[in-house]
Amino acid sequence: MKWTKLMIQTLREDPGDAEIDSHKLLVRASLVKKISGGLYTYLPLGMRTLNKVAAIVREEMDRAGAQEIVMPILQPAELWKTSGRWETMGPGLFHLKDRGAHEYALSPTAEEVVTDLAKNIVSSYRQLPATLYQIQWKFRDEIRPRFGLMRSKEFLMKDAYSFDVSLDAADASYMAMFNAYKRIFARCGLKAYPVEADTGDIGGKFSHEFHVLADSGEDGIAFCDGCGYAANLEKAERSVSKRDDAPCPDFEEVHTPGAKTIDQVSAFMGVPGSAFVKSLVYSADGTPVMVCVPGDRDVNDVKLRHFLGVRKLELADYETVLQATGANAGSVGPVRPACTAMRIVADQSLAGARGCITGANRDDYHLKNVDLARDTRLADADFADLVVAQTGDICPHCGKTMAIRRGIEVGHVFKLGTKYADAFNAVFKTDDLQEKTMVMGCYGIGISRTLQAVIEQSHDKDGIIWPSAVAPYQVVIDLLDPADESVANVAAELEAQLEEKGVDVIVDDREERPGVKFKDADLIGFTVRVVVGAKGLAKGGVEIKARKDPKEAMKIVPPAEAPAAILELLASC
Ligand code: ATP
Ligand code: MG
Repeated sequence: MKWTKLMIQTLREDPGDAEIDSHKLLVRASLVKKISGGLYTYLPLGMRTLNKVAAIVREEMDRAGAQEIVMPILQPAELWKTSGRWETMGPGLFHLKDRGAHEYALSPTAEEVVTDLAKNIVSSYRQLPATLYQIQWKFRDEIRPRFGLMRSKEFLMKDAYSFDVSLDAADASYMAMFNAYKRIFARCGLKAYPVEADTGDIGGKFSHEFHVLADSGEDGIAFCDGCGYAANLEKAERSVSKRDDAPCPDFEEVHTPGAKTIDQVSAFMGVPGSAFVKSLVYSADGTPVMVCVPGDRDVNDVKLRHFLGVRKLELADYETVLQATGANAGSVGPVRPACTAMRIVADQSLAGARGCITGANRDDYHLKNVDLARDTRLADADFADLVVAQTGDICPHCGKTMAIRRGIEVGHVFKLGTKYADAFNAVFKTDDLQEKTMVMGCYGIGISRTLQAVIEQSHDKDGIIWPSAVAPYQVVIDLLDPADESVANVAAELEAQLEEKGVDVIVDDREERPGVKFKDADLIGFTVRVVVGAKGLAKGGVEIKARKDPKEAMKIVPPAEAPAAILELLASC
């Protein structure tokens, strides 16, 4: 392919709205063009990489035995109402009406449509197991579209859905997808880690997200180098040792005027934050609940919601806090709250805590010398793991310390159980003609997000460094003297030979200075750069170099040996 035949417009300046390197490079390297917030056009180079990622995903899905289908993007509201998600997805779901006033959703995912499909096609156990997948555009009205393709309103996703006769059989389908994902990300040149993820209402251990580690990642992940435990912070557990606090005298009130936050009270009293019990009043499905955690920790809302077994959880409003405790938010605590019926729960690390400081349920007052067992209604069953894990926490599996890192979620595998099959009454007949509900799993990969994650993981100050498998073109031939016939012939010959070997080649045939061509080649990041010019040929050949080794000198090889040398370089990238 000739450069001059493609719509490529590289930019020297970073786009104003780009916060992370991969977003800047996507735009500067002319892979995508923004239309408006969260909406992008894929330019020819971007389209080629997107197609290459999609092709890898398709091959591995097929290899794992999944069957490709395409479902409509426009999905009737009735299906979403059947699952209940027309309501629960809230404003994240794009809605629209046709001229007959029928309501539709723009697909953010496709559990409803695919379950309805399976219900209508599968009648016998003989048709199971089946895993269906599609590579299709998805739409989500994200609160904050940002970071380019990472969090956009419209994005390309591979979504797969498995249907099985039993929970055990579903485990096998899950593992087939799990292993396919490992292969997919490795083939894309990505180091992606499977991490345990929250299973929402389903429960159990069967949800893994695949994360690419990057400082710009939106998710926190707890990693244990000791045993390999990795879990999304939403779910990451920690082990705590049993406390052996010394008995303390009776609690007493301390006047703490104007000090509301733990930091302020701790500065006022001259004691560390860890000596405090932080108490927060939540509204759990509309009922106030007090949650106590150590003063230097944060409540994990996901864990709390599961522990309480509620659907809707939010911090209670000012009125509720006052009514339930008798004080405003900065002065509340578990000792004698106004509402004696309010449930109080606490983080497991507080079991046996004595001599701590809590709010006094009286504005501007705190209590010191609180013994949680002696002075509150907390019983054993009220303690659970309720905090967000931190670096230095103890791994729940091996006892070593964990570290928190940032990750980009590129894929997600999830065992759904019978949640959707129940809603749609998706049943089949067993061999003894019993009716049974299908057991499902769902498996997503953000193809467009993966493309950008490759850039986030693989770039330097000059531009992108494409792994060979997903580069828009694997080889760029910088033609330095396009008007010189013998030079042009060498380039054309090399291009033909490489293409014959299945290598994607772009020839930079522009009337530009070498410096401009080199800069653009580095910015777009073609895996191997070849320079063909009169000077080089006079020295005995063409110059070749892998993009990933910027410090390495160009290697001069005779034109006849160039294809083999280039193939060898590509194999190492
Ligand atoms: P996130 O937590 O990042 O919002 P999610 O958990 O809601 O993602 P899933 O429903 O699991 O996403 O979707 C499957 C995959 O689709 C994700 O792993 C991610 O790679 C991709 N994805 C989700 N939302 C977006 C988006 N707004 N833009 C681009 N890719 C996305
Ligand atoms: Mg997810």
